[in-house]
Amino acid sequence: MEAFAPIPPEWTSQAVHAHEFYCPNCHSSSLEATQVWINRRAPVTTEQYRRKWQEFYHCHCGFTWWAWSNDRPPTNLKKPEE
Ligand SMILES: [Zn+2]
Repeated sequence: MEAFAPIPPEWTSQAVHAHEFYCPNCHSSSLEATQVWINRRAPVTTEQYRRKWQEFYHCHCGFTWWAWSNDRPPTNLKKPEE
């Protein structure tokens, strides 16, 4: 899975902004997505001077959505390179 590929995958062009951190179509969590792409090339500095970036998810239901990284609930997943 090319989560950190520099070029946005084709499927991200259809993404819809999800205001909650799950699929707006079927409410599956990001952990159930079949593909992930993280836009680390264009981070945004928030009001608290923390960086956030867009995370794109291609859900198993066929829907594509994205959300800000700082909206992601805590998980047990290890963050890459941190
Ligand atoms: Zn879905």
